[in-house]
Amino acid sequence: MIDTAIQAQIDQILAKVHQGGRISYDEGMLLYQHADMLDLAEAANARRQQLVPGDVVTYLIDRNINYTNVCVTDCQFCNFYALPGDTSGKGYVNSKLILGKKIEEALQLGSTRILMQGGHNPDLPYEYYIDLVGWIHRTFPAIEINAFSPSEIQYMSEMGGKTWKETLTELKAVGLSGLPGGGGEILDDEIRKRVTPKKIMTDDWFGVMKVAHELGLITTTTMVIGFREELRNRMNHLARLRDEQDDSLKRFGNGFNAFISWTVQIEGTPLGKSRFASEYGATGSEYLRHTAISRIFLDNIPHISASWPTQGAKVGQMALHFGCDDFGSTMIEENVVSAAGAITKVSPVMLPNEIHRQIREAGFVPAQRNTNYDVLKKFGTPEADAELQSIEAITEAATKQGNWAELTLLD
Ligand code: SF4
Repeated sequence: MIDTAIQAQIDQILAKVHQGGRISYDEGMLLYQHADMLDLAEAANARRQQLVPGDVVTYLIDRNINYTNVCVTDCQFCNFYALPGDTSGKGYVNSKLILGKKIEEALQLGSTRILMQGGHNPDLPYEYYIDLVGWIHRTFPAIEINAFSPSEIQYMSEMGGKTWKETLTELKAVGLSGLPGGGGEILDDEIRKRVTPKKIMTDDWFGVMKVAHELGLITTTTMVIGFREELRNRMNHLARLRDEQDDSLKRFGNGFNAFISWTVQIEGTPLGKSRFASEYGATGSEYLRHTAISRIFLDNIPHISASWPTQGAKVGQMALHFGCDDFGSTMIEENVVSAAGAITKVSPVMLPNEIHRQIREAGFVPAQRNTNYDVLKKFGTPEADAELQSIEAITEAATKQGNWAELTLLD
């Protein structure tokens, strides 16, 4: 039972949210610690309506592609990478032939974007990245290229002796449309130094993104919870993110267009083998609570995506009632959190018809979007639904041909 004085404070904060007001760090912390779940959901939905009015829930048809898993960074939560010189056969650099096949297949399935990330591979020179993005853009001009975490940008910049601005300018010139915002984990160095000490720290992560905003690139931002962090570490991440977003919007009129969080997956990772293994990760309730707090606190980031790949479709569906206005993407392929035990290990794809079912049954109207969150097609009219049938038909045909299995073997 909550103390009546604390409940009165919570009621005041929630009323402020319903009226469209910004809440402070301490108010966010109080909600996080004490607010009733359903009150939080209601306030998060009110914030969603202030930022994204209506009942449409968007999704993206895209494919996650990894160009290499060779990496020197040794993140404690990663089971995806192989060290340079690894003799087990795990390490790879995908050829243009394989990458091209993956993109062709994604286009066949109606994809509008690829999300491409990889390890920090010391054998790949700076020119490799420029050549790769340029080749993809020239060969497949219809696909948006969202690629490279701030940490990869920092790594390739170092390899090429370039500034972040030079690197991002060159990548944009050859066809990069945006950065997916990976590698954020918890943007509080107290936690980063423990779980990802060789990757860039908070200031540099935001530094790279600031340049991306200045250059007009599309960016999203991610967060992972469950590293045995305290609530203050989570709030530190959210508060820094909100401040940086205010600054980017004020200076460049461009900032993060979406936020997505998920819970750390630790199967086969150093964290999973540590004596604290049972204390890592987070429950579905904790994820939903965090989602609601993020939506309420981040009043300057328009879109919040649900994470079905780590939470499963059922919790993803519930997240739509905790302030999310987006159901993420079809993925088609996912190798990073899957390797650490995420649900995508079993099924790395959610077909558009299944995404529609999840969104509709949660009480919303599905709409396909692009990377920039522009609605490409809102479903619910007979014409649009007929279009979905053709997406389903293509998807089923591709599945029957076994294309995904073939590509997995090629890896
Ligand atoms: S999470 Fe990324 S940077 Fe970290 S070890 Fe894995 S591949 Fe490397």
